[in-house]
This record gives sequence, C-alpha cells and structure tokens, in this order.
Amino acid sequence: MKRLWLCAAAACALSASSVTHAADTNAPSPSSPSPASLEAPRMGTWGFDLHNRDPATKAGDDFFRFADGKGVDAMTIPADRSRFGAFDELVELSSARSRALIESPGAGAPGSEEAKIKALYGSFMNQQKLNSLGAAPLKPELAAIKAVKTREEMARLMGRGALSFYGGFFGAYVGTDAKDPDRYAVILGQSGLNLPDRDYYLTDQFAAKKQKYQAYVADTLERIGWRNPQGTAKTLVDLETEIAKASWTKVEQRDDNKMYNPMTPAELAKLAPGFPWQAYFKGAELPPLTRVIVGEKTAFPKIAAIYAKTPVETLKAWQAFTVASNASSYLSQPFDESHFQFYSKELQGVPAQRERWKRATSLVSGQMGEALGHLYVETYFPPESKARMLELVGDLKTALGQRIKKLDWMSDATKAKAATKLGMLNVKIGYPNKWRDYSALVQKPDDLYGNIERGQAFEWHYRVARLNKPVDRDEWDMTPQTVNAYYDPTKNEIVFPAAILAPPFFDPKADMAVNYGAIGGVIGHEMTHGFDDQGRQYDGTGKLTDWWTKEDSDRFDARAKQLVAQYSAFEPLPGAHVNGGLTLGENIADLGGLLLALDAYHASLHGQPAPVIDGLTGDQRVFLGWAQVWKSKIRDDALRQRLATDPHSPEKLRVNGVVHNVDGWYAAYDVKPGDKLYLAPDQRVRIW
Ligand SMILES: [Zn+2]
Repeated sequence: MKRLWLCAAAACALSASSVTHAADTNAPSPSSPSPASLEAPRMGTWGFDLHNRDPATKAGDDFFRFADGKGVDAMTIPADRSRFGAFDELVELSSARSRALIESPGAGAPGSEEAKIKALYGSFMNQQKLNSLGAAPLKPELAAIKAVKTREEMARLMGRGALSFYGGFFGAYVGTDAKDPDRYAVILGQSGLNLPDRDYYLTDQFAAKKQKYQAYVADTLERIGWRNPQGTAKTLVDLETEIAKASWTKVEQRDDNKMYNPMTPAELAKLAPGFPWQAYFKGAELPPLTRVIVGEKTAFPKIAAIYAKTPVETLKAWQAFTVASNASSYLSQPFDESHFQFYSKELQGVPAQRERWKRATSLVSGQMGEALGHLYVETYFPPESKARMLELVGDLKTALGQRIKKLDWMSDATKAKAATKLGMLNVKIGYPNKWRDYSALVQKPDDLYGNIERGQAFEWHYRVARLNKPVDRDEWDMTPQTVNAYYDPTKNEIVFPAAILAPPFFDPKADMAVNYGAIGGVIGHEMTHGFDDQGRQYDGTGKLTDWWTKEDSDRFDARAKQLVAQYSAFEPLPGAHVNGGLTLGENIADLGGLLLALDAYHASLHGQPAPVIDGLTGDQRVFLGWAQVWKSKIRDDALRQRLATDPHSPEKLRVNGVVHNVDGWYAAYDVKPGDKLYLAPDQRVRIW
C-alpha cells in the first residue's frame, strides 16, 4: 500500500474510500460482466425504496434505522469489503463499467491511451508472470539500499519516495500555496509510519494490532532475505513508535495556519538539523529551491533527531521493509497475500481479497484515471445530467446566500465578505474540460512493477514541472469515474465527478424532494466546506487569510465547540468514541448540507403545496433522501480504524447526528421530548 502524504489544504472529500488494497489470489477466471450489471440502480418507484424502512423503529428514536433499517438488515457486506452501502454499490457499478471499457475488443493503436490502459491492466492480471518473478522486481531497490553507507545517501533514497516505492521520514508534495493560491509550492510533511496513524503505536486499543504489525514486518523482511528478521522487526517497530511520539495528531494537522510555515532550505536545515535536506531534495529530483512550506513544524526537529541517531543499518532495514511492503500488491502471491492479511484482514476485518479484475481496474483508474475517465463519460454520462446539476447547484447557492443574510450571530461586515466568497465559488460537474496528456507515459504488457514506477515518476515530474507556472484551475483532483465529491479551499470550488450523479444520489426521473435530500444535500455539504472551521479561513480567491471580525470568529468557534461536544459523546463501539475535533469540518458540512437542501426544496415549490406521495410529505421525503444515501454497514475493525483516522463520522451518525439539529426534522416527523434523538431547541447547534 502506497500512502501519499497529503497537504494541509487537500480537498475535502464527501466520503472516505472503502476500497481495500486486497487481492483475490484464488479468483475464478474473470467472466465478462453482464449488461444488466452496467445499469444504474433504481430506488423504488419514485426514488426512495420504501422496503428499506424499519416500521418498528420510531423516527425520533433512531432515524437511520427508521429510514434504512430493513435495508441494512438485508445487506451482507461482501467478503472483499470492509464496508458496504449505497456508496459502495455505485463504486461497484463504476468498477464494472470501467472493466467493460478496458476489456473492449482490440488492442488499441500502438502508443495510444487505449493501448497503454490495456497494457497496464494486462500486466496486473498476469499473475502467473508475477509469481514466476518472485522478489526479482525489488532487486535494484534492495541493491541500492544495501549499498548505502551514509545518512546522506539514505536521505537521497528517501527523496525518491516521491516517485517510487521507497519510503521516507518526511513526505514531499507539490501543491497550491495556501497564502498565494495562484502559485505552486513544495510542501513538506511528517511521515515514516507504516501503520494508519500514530494512535496505532501509542494507544492500548491498538496494542494487539501493533503486535501483529511486528510479525508482518518480520515476515516481509524474511521474504526479501534480510538478516535477523525477528530482531530487526522489533527494532523497526520501536523506531516507528519513536516517530509516532514525535508526530502531530490528525486533529492538530487540521489547523491550516499552524500547518503553514514557509521557509528557505537554509532555515529548514536550522529548524531540523540532522536530516540531510539537500540530499533529500536531490533524490526527489527537485530543481534548486528557494522556499518550501513546512507542515507539522514542531515534529520536524524531533523526527530529524531520530533520523540522526538511528544507526544507518537500521535505516537501511526500515527502507528495505518499506519498499517491499509498498510494492507487495504488485509482486508475487506470497507478498500480495501477506500484505492483504495484515492491512485488510487484520486491520479492517476484511475476510477475502477482491477479485483481481477489480483491483486491476482501480489501478488503471489511479494511474491513468483521466484516460479511462474520458472513455467513461463518453459512454455513461448523459449531457442533460450536467445541465440539471447546474440548476440544482444554483438553487443551493441561493439557499446558502439567504441563510448567510439571516444569520443572527454574524455582523454585517463579515456577512458581506461571506457573500462575496460564495459569489466567487467555482463549480465543476462530470468531467474536466481539458484532459491529461499521457503521451510521455510508457506502459508495457509484461512489466507491472515497471509500469507502476513509471506511472509514479510520470505523475511526480508532471507536478514538479509546474512549480514555476500559475495554478491550473482546470485541473481535477478526482477522476470522472470516482463516486465522491470534493471542495478545494485553495480554488474555492466544488467538484462532482460523473459517477456520483446516479441513484440514490441523483435521478432526474425521481421525486424532486428525494433529489434535494440526496444530491442537494451533497452539493450543500461541499458548499458548506467553504464555510466550515477550516474552509472559513480561506477567502473567495482561495487564499488562507482571516476575513472575519474577532467577535464573529469567537461566535463561530463557540458554535463549533458545541458540535464537537455532541459528536464526541457518540460511542459507536464500546470504548471507541467519535473524535469530535477530527470530524468537525465534515459534521459542519453535513449539517449545513441538509439545511440547505431543505431550504432549496422549499424554494423549488414556488409557494405551491408539496405533493404527498405514498402518504409521505415533501419534507419527510427530503430527510429520507438524505438517509438513503448513507445506508450502509461496516465491520468493527474497519470502524475502529475509521474512528481513529477518518475525518468523516460513521454513516449512521451522518444521519442521526445531523437530523436532531434540524428544526424541520422535528416538525416533519413529529419528534417530541422523550424520543431518543430529541434535543431541546436551545441544545440544537446552529451554525449556517
Ligand atoms: Zn466533506
């Protein structure tokens, strides 16, 4: 599993991916997907499947169960997944459609994107070839590691982590400069952990996982012939534990101002002596730099000091393990299987590996995403969807503008600036206007390892080449076949890939109340990210700058604090609470999203009464539409990992944690004191 370090200003996605990095080594020979499986799902007769409700549960006691209960009961999490639900059904659909495109007849003209896609896909599918190679593809990397004599040389290899399977104690990224959003900058962050978070090294709840991790490290070292694998594994886990102690928590990383520390390389060397920065930059093939932006500032000197005192032999062993682990999914079965056993089965409770074609499709999507996306939208994205979405976005934007005007806690001065920011919001729907050019990327049908390395280097060089160019505002951070959406604060834009514009999110044929609750809520969610606790720190141009009066800022923080307390009280698993601070931005966005959806639905009625369908009022259907999107089930281990690492609350709380702050929900479902979700009006959090 290759984990990329993401910059502080990374886009806020609607949902975390549930795709695991597993493989099915015993997969049956792949059969072609049947045409029926390529069709978008239908939800009941008007957009909501009434059979999913649980009539035995009162709406006011557990709205998630009331709306989705029977549907959830009837659902089995597929053996190859950590979670399953409405989102994941669409992910499966997108995957099947992508496969049909990739496996279309013909090889494609030599050098064409089609030929490259087929070569990459084929190289992953040819497991026989991978098995015959064993650990051989790792040989050049392992030889380079063994040849290292100094910390300088090791830092150089760590720099190569940006464009290869190597790992590093620090990560480098080329991203938008948050205080100068027309320019790119080299952004540096803490790294060095091969478990999902520092909590896995430092807290009791993950102590057993940490032990299993040490066994995985030992197995991997043994497989690559490293000496003393058992003893070395213990040393490496101790080393990563030291790095974990020095690392910032995920909550600390959410403070974009604290994560923004521009400096010259000379200042960096002074801040964090003991790490050979120039060798690191050289390894990353960066041009001579005059400025970098450092993320977790106080962690840098500590991690650099750990580096300086760690014996070179230990650094070499760490790098060897990290390379092998990062590459495992693309090697022979023993590597692949052991990586799956630890990262998917042990950490997330996933019993079986994903079928190989699904993993191959994900790989193509990750590495040549826009080439595949181009084909995808030609076949699966009707142009009228774009027009309808633009109308809906306009409705939601109007709703947010009106809410801002009516806020009782914000001064006119800040309101005017908020309205300006909203007016400058950019919207992207379906697919990019301008596609990536893959002509310089070489992909070979019989060289998976090389294909991935070339793909990573291609991507990195593309980013580095932009360092002195203005920020590309046409660029997308998600591919059209991705079932998700995002807000990018540095571009002040919301983005909706083609694949999410399908039921249960969006169906032009469905009842509009359901559409407003579902895709309307999603649009409102992304829009609200521009005004959540992180997004509000950026202005309309995407610049990280404080445009708030002190009083307004304090009043916002007080409201946000209330929401932190509400969510922190939720305990989805015994002893495992929601981290209200980590999930704050997403929770604000969920609350804002649903409120805006309801407002926009009301406005769409133009004063006419809402139709009643199957005995349900318009408002009731808006809430059902929202709940239907979050219908899902998750394995306990995966939930535990999510609670520690994911800024999104568990799906059940994306329903129950939100509705009980919405006055309209009490009215729609006649929720009264005594109902389990009931909050007195003065306990309901009101932000946007
Ligand atoms: Zn979000």
